[in-house]
Amino acid sequence: KLLLEVKELSAVISESKQPILKGVNLTIHEGEVHAVMGKNGSGKSTFAKVLVGHPDYEITGGSVTYKGENLLEMEPEERAAAGLFMSFQSPVEIPGVSNIDFLNMAYNARRRKLGLPELGPIEFYGYIAPKLELVNMKVDFLNRNVNEGFSGGERKRNEILQLAVLGAELAILDEIDSGLDVDALRDVANAVNGLLTPKNSVLMITHYLRLLEFIKPAFVHIMEDGKIVKTGDISIAKVLEKEGYKAISG
Ligand code: ADP
Ligand code: MG
Ligand code: MG
Repeated sequence: KLLLEVKELSAVISESKQPILKGVNLTIHEGEVHAVMGKNGSGKSTFAKVLVGHPDYEITGGSVTYKGENLLEMEPEERAAAGLFMSFQSPVEIPGVSNIDFLNMAYNARRRKLGLPELGPIEFYGYIAPKLELVNMKVDFLNRNVNEGFSGGERKRNEILQLAVLGAELAILDEIDSGLDVDALRDVANAVNGLLTPKNSVLMITHYLRLLEFIKPAFVHIMEDGKIVKTGDISIAKVLEKEGYKAISG
């Protein structure tokens, strides 16, 4: 079943009107894992941010249909409530707010949208505790302030914990492999794999084949200058790693 259909999507930076996305086409069905690769500055993060409704960008053309609806007309909060999740390349610190309180608030916001009762702190603890195992984190991690003093690996684990708590029909993971040693990468990848179901889809953005060997995508797309210029399977990522972008773009 069709989940996301992006057609000829173009976007500029709101402030400068500089074009960044120049006609992106991408189709994702339920249960599919997709990867977007591409050189630095090719527009990968912009594409991800445009999908979640980031205000820095203005759409100038094309369409995005998500679960049969016009995604571009939805507020960012509505997109999140509709099961769109994005991890950030550089997550922010939130001083004075404990991680568990933050996650509890975020989860309750999603529950409200779904018409479900909110969970109090004790119920929420019961809900989240088993999920810590998934990302290989200790309980005291929950009492620390959001991202404050987290190592690179802890930040990434925390993002996947957020994903596990909130649930998502389409998870967009922007460079979840950046700055991770191989053990942390394996944990993060195992956690993502543990969240995959026949209904959930993942769009991961990465520079490296290494991640794709842990979370196996059925489709690999190459982005270049604001467009997807090639789509294939993992073999194009292998060519890329061996021979560089020249070998696959025209
Ligand atoms: P990638 O994730 O592929 O490395 P990005 O989407 O982050 O690429 O950026 C694409 C291009 O757009 C880069 O040249 C970047 O500097 C520029 N860009 C993206 N967002 C902004 C912004 N908010 N302000 C100014 N330039 C931006
Ligand atoms: Mg970049
Ligand atoms: Mg990026």
